[in-house]
Amino acid sequence: CGIVGVTGRTDTVEILISGLEKLEYRGYDSAGIYVNTAEKQAHLVKARGKIADLKLKLTPEIKGTAGIGHTRWATNGVPSIENAHPQFSADDRFYLVHNGVIENYEELKAQYLSDVEFVSQTDTEVVVQLVDHFVVQENMTTKQAFKKTLSLLKGSSYAFLLMDHEEPDTLYVAKNKSPLLIGLGDEFNVVCSDALAMLNVTKDFLELHDGEMVVVTPQAVEITDQTGKQVKRDSFHVDLDP
Ligand code: GLU
Repeated sequence: CGIVGVTGRTDTVEILISGLEKLEYRGYDSAGIYVNTAEKQAHLVKARGKIADLKLKLTPEIKGTAGIGHTRWATNGVPSIENAHPQFSADDRFYLVHNGVIENYEELKAQYLSDVEFVSQTDTEVVVQLVDHFVVQENMTTKQAFKKTLSLLKGSSYAFLLMDHEEPDTLYVAKNKSPLLIGLGDEFNVVCSDALAMLNVTKDFLELHDGEMVVVTPQAVEITDQTGKQVKRDSFHVDLDP
């Protein structure tokens, strides 16, 4: 339902939580964040209910320099902690937030992931397990595995934000028929499904087109189209106060 991400900020948890609070108006049944540090001290926190319920689970140890957050409006699987996002791969390496619906997730699960133990009923978990499958079983890079996975999602709507525990400052981003923007900062960047969520940290945004995939680090935003060609795009300025 709502997506936020940030890389290159020591106040990552605060930015994610305030971003999710700005998206509360959209409605949701659960929420969660995943954060990581340069030393790979990662944390996953999820809650049913409101962002206030999620905040109750935060402690001072839970901090990061990059992270992703989500408010869920359940489409596949009941509202529960297990089904809340971020969803993660069985080896705890990949973490994913998703807006939208994957139409062919059951076929993909049967074809590629029959030996994987699932912890949720979501369509989203199939996507993150697939990325892991291609990295671990087929020796792909995370970028190749994400691209391969996206190519298998037929007729689906998605906005995705993926993190690899082994690359703690990198956000992998993709969208199709679901809104997603990159927000630009000085030595940091953010991602959000609605500019409103990030107006307190930046007013400069890049729009993404369907089928594009983006790799975001604190220093760079690299957009590629479906054919793998690099895309150059000007940012736009939002003249609104948070
Ligand atoms: N289809 C996903 C789920 O049910 C994402 C729902 C959403 O867009 O919040 O978990």
